[in-house]
Amino acid sequence: MTILRNVRLFPRTADTAAVDVEIEDGRFSSFTSHTPGTTSAGAIEGAGRALLPSLGDVHAHLDSNRSGQTFRPHTADGTLHGLIMNDRENWRAGERSVRDQADFVIATIIASGGTRIRSHTQIDADCGLERFSGVRDALAAHAEVLDSQIVAFPQAGIVREKGVRDLLDAALNEGADLVGGLDPLQYDRDPVAHLDVVFGLAEKHGKGVDIHLHERGSAGVFTIEEIAHRTKALGMQGQVTISHAFALSSNPEPEVERIVDILAEAGISLTTVAPHNGVLPQRSLREKRVALALGEDGQRDYWSPYGDGDLLRRTWQLAFTNGHRRDEDIEACLDIASRGGAQVMAGARPEGTALVDDARFGLGIGAPADFMLVTADTVTSAIMDCPADRDVYKGGRLVATGGRLVGGKH
Ligand SMILES: [Zn+2]
Repeated sequence: MTILRNVRLFPRTADTAAVDVEIEDGRFSSFTSHTPGTTSAGAIEGAGRALLPSLGDVHAHLDSNRSGQTFRPHTADGTLHGLIMNDRENWRAGERSVRDQADFVIATIIASGGTRIRSHTQIDADCGLERFSGVRDALAAHAEVLDSQIVAFPQAGIVREKGVRDLLDAALNEGADLVGGLDPLQYDRDPVAHLDVVFGLAEKHGKGVDIHLHERGSAGVFTIEEIAHRTKALGMQGQVTISHAFALSSNPEPEVERIVDILAEAGISLTTVAPHNGVLPQRSLREKRVALALGEDGQRDYWSPYGDGDLLRRTWQLAFTNGHRRDEDIEACLDIASRGGAQVMAGARPEGTALVDDARFGLGIGAPADFMLVTADTVTSAIMDCPADRDVYKGGRLVATGGRLVGGKH
C-alpha cells in the first residue's frame, strides 16, 4: 500500500482541506482528513499540494513532430492539400528518427501530467507503415507508464491515393487500435467510398474509428450524419470518435443542437485540440452526455509552429479559446482533459454509468491512481499558472518529476 499525506483534492478554494490518500494495487482505496503535525512512516509527503487527475493527449501526432529539434520556418501554402504535401516533402529531413522523436515527445507529455495518449500515425503511399511502426514501438516501450492507443490514419486520403486501404489493413494486423479517416467529402471527394473502407476495416478487425473532420457548415453535417448512420448500423456505439468536428462551430445553433442529439444517440465521442476557429459547445455536449477529450495535434512541425507537449498549457488554451472566466467553466476544461479523455479512450461505457464516472477514472475510490501533484491554490490557478513543478503518478507510482521521466533518457 502507498500512503500519500497532506494533499488537497481538486481544490476549488485556497483553503480546501487537506486529506491523506491510500493507494492499493494501483487504485485509490481511501481518502481521510489530514491531521496536521502527524507523521506516518514510509508515507509520501504531499506538502499541501493540489492533487489533480492526470491528463491525456487524445489527439496526438507523434510522427508529425519536431519538438526539441532546430526550429524551421513554416513553408506550407495554407491549403489542406498543401499542408499534407509540405509534410510529405520534409518529414524525412527531421533530426531524429520517428521512433526517437516519439520517445522524446512521449516523455514531454508524461512529464507535463499526461498518462494517456491516443496518437494518429500517417499511413500513405509515401511512407507506408514506416511512421506507424516508429510510433507503435515508442508507445509499446512506455506501456508501464502510459495508457496508449494508435490510429491508422490515411493522411493523404483513401480514394485519392491508391493502395492506402491495404496499408491500413496491414497496420491493423500489426497492432493499430483504431481506423482513421480524413474529410471524406471535401478532401477525398467520395464520402461513400471513403467511409465504406473505414467502417469496413473497423468491422473486419473489430476495431474502433477516429475520423479527422474539418468539414464545416452543411458539408460537415452531411458527413456526421453518414458516420452516425454507419455507427448505428454496425452496433459500434461508443467505438467511434470524430476529431475536430468543426461542423459544431459553423452552423446555426438549432442545427448544432440537432447534430449533438445525433452524436448522443449514436454514442459518438469527440476530440478537440482547442483551436481558435473550432470551439465546440461544451455545455450542450456535457448535458447530452457526449464524451469530449482534449488533444494537442503535432508540435512545431511541418503543419504549424505551435505546441510544446504541455497538456496543462493546452488545457489553458481550451479555456482561453472558449472565453471562460468562471472557475467552474475552467475546471470543466480540466475535466475534459482528464476524465473526458479517459472516457473517450475507454470506449463504450457500462449501461447506467455516468458520462465521466469517478469510480472508473478520476478521483474516486477504486479509480486508477493516475494523478499529478502541483503547487497551486486551486484547479483554476493551476491552469492559469501552469506550474513547472509537477510530480506525475501512474497507478500510484511516481513516473515523472521535475519535467523528466523517472529513469528516462529525456
Ligand atoms: Zn490531427
